[in-house]
Amino acid sequence: MTKEITKIGIIGAGATGLTQLQQLLEIWETRKEVNEKSILKVKVFETKHEVGGVWLIDDQPKESIRTHIQPSSSSSSKPHEEQQDRIEQAYSYPPEGQNPSPMYEGLRTNLPKDLMAFRNFPFPDETPLFPEQALIQRYLESYATHYDLRKHIKFSTRVERVYLTSQGEETESGSSGRRWTIESHDLKNDEIEKEEYDYVVPSNGHYCDGWIPPIRGLSSFPGEIIHSRFYHRASDYIGKTVLVVGSFASGGDISRLLATENVGKFDSNGEPLNGYSKNDFINIYMSSSGSVKYINTENNEWGKYINQISLISHVSSPSKDNEKGIIHLKEDKENQEQNGWNKDGLELNNIDIIIFATGYNYMYPFFKSQDKPWSDHKITETEIKEKERQKGDQWEINGLKGQALTELDDLLLFLKGDRTIAFPVMTYNTVPFPLAQIQARLTAYLWAGLLDDLPERIKLPPHPNNPYFNSHSDSDSSDQNDNSRIIEQDDKGTVDPPHQPTTTQEKETKSKPRERQVLAKVKKLYFGPHYEFVYADFLSSIMTDSDKKHNVETSENWKSVEDWRRRRREDTDLRKRTLGY
Ligand SMILES: Cc1cc2nc3c(=O)[nH]c(=O)nc-3n(C[C@H](O)[C@H](O)[C@H](O)COP(=O)(O)OP(=O)(O)OC[C@H]3O[C@@H](n4cnc5c(N)ncnc54)[C@H](O)[C@@H]3O)c2cc1C
Repeated sequence: MTKEITKIGIIGAGATGLTQLQQLLEIWETRKEVNEKSILKVKVFETKHEVGGVWLIDDQPKESIRTHIQPSSSSSSKPHEEQQDRIEQAYSYPPEGQNPSPMYEGLRTNLPKDLMAFRNFPFPDETPLFPEQALIQRYLESYATHYDLRKHIKFSTRVERVYLTSQGEETESGSSGRRWTIESHDLKNDEIEKEEYDYVVPSNGHYCDGWIPPIRGLSSFPGEIIHSRFYHRASDYIGKTVLVVGSFASGGDISRLLATENVGKFDSNGEPLNGYSKNDFINIYMSSSGSVKYINTENNEWGKYINQISLISHVSSPSKDNEKGIIHLKEDKENQEQNGWNKDGLELNNIDIIIFATGYNYMYPFFKSQDKPWSDHKITETEIKEKERQKGDQWEINGLKGQALTELDDLLLFLKGDRTIAFPVMTYNTVPFPLAQIQARLTAYLWAGLLDDLPERIKLPPHPNNPYFNSHSDSDSSDQNDNSRIIEQDDKGTVDPPHQPTTTQEKETKSKPRERQVLAKVKKLYFGPHYEFVYADFLSSIMTDSDKKHNVETSENWKSVEDWRRRRREDTDLRKRTLGY
């Protein structure tokens, strides 16, 4: 019997791409009924020279480009002042050919190592409970080595276009099964390759296009504006006045690291101690809409250096008296009175650098808005515009990006109506590695032909902590309470979600219907407490049923999520108890 060839292309060799590769190899190697019929040809494309994704950092300073676009309604015939008055969108992205990791010096995981690990592949015993970035990188490298994954990875190769092979176009095998074309760029040899695949996994990560909230007059700010993905190390900011916008995982951690740089050198007013120079003080403001509980100056030495302030209202251009421009803040009476916010007033004229820790866009630069199926499936609400990518990577233009990702199927894993493309780890408030792994296993089962009975429509299990699945209307007019619930949970939660619904956004949505819609879509991917385990068990049950049909014993490990994981997840204070923050 001639075996059919199953060709699978995976984009990215971060944690998600690696576990997808491992699961595919395992299913094809261990399941006779699969490998008797089909030969797996799988290729992972990876821009970098090594596995690891965001955990692979090179300790180089990160450069960023900043552009601003006024909304299209502000035509050039309008008077200058009127244009200045309009809100504008700012962009912060790397120069052409660069793609620094958003990780930074001093980062430790915000999940304990046992919870974070893949099933069946624990961290070494000597690893601290909340490891630093380098140890996660080492873990992912050893995962790749243990399963001999690197031979399937094409490093230094960037995927630049992915589309459905048009009907009638000659396919490489002549088979109608070849559906996706992947165009990749071998960056070392500067060669473009075009290949067809049956299945595709875009596991290119969610942390490369930083989102900056629209702010009136921001382009007139004369200082530096960066997104947190370009923050590298606290010592780069010595002697500067820094405004960090956002107080969640990244904003909170970056503020803490900046503040820690002052410890032992300055008093809380910035007066030097122990012979340090006044010029070395880092003056830190952190802008958000709610009080941040972990900045408790009684329990740490750094909290006193962080001035908590309200959200930015708008920015005024520099003048003779205010050479650094003026950042105007919104009134926040409650926090002003209760927590002493905005003690310097509602105007800041001393800011050197604004760091926006305000979340990320989903970005698929290789899905071009004019290509099939993306021209029909608007999976994101916008695309990369030429104007925003000045001096950045031009090949990305017309690629899809947006704050929300829609058009996922009922399993929140495949494209609606097309299970030949998988979008792993799209949900928020979930533990990424094990979630990626269970989704990868299901995808491998499906593409290996082990789930032929899987119905086209599947209802995910209802759960009291997952109210978002109960409201399935696209025009969902989410109320503010729901949004603040996202914020609150994220604050207690674990990792930066793919897109952080920030407090800034939350406020913005009060007046902006489009953003309300985006948030409503974001909410549908938001897992409430414990739902990730219900979801994982549901995927496991689909595979267990298949195992039964094929008379295969399901290993304990894949039956259901262990109880200790649930208990660990409930212990939201563990990091604070362990690390003190
Ligand atoms: C600051 C920060 C802190 C975090 N802390 C934690 C934590 O403590 N615990 C935790 O579990 N998670 C944490 N995360 C989440 C983390 O992103 C996930 O854990 C996980 O590493 C995501 O893996 P990934 O493979 O999906 O994406 P990535 O790690 O981003 O990998 C994507 C890969 O795709 C490659 N790629 C992208 N585009 C292309 C292309 N066109 N062609 C070829 N290759 C391409 C990239 O080079 C990259 O290697 C954190 C994230 C950030 C940003």
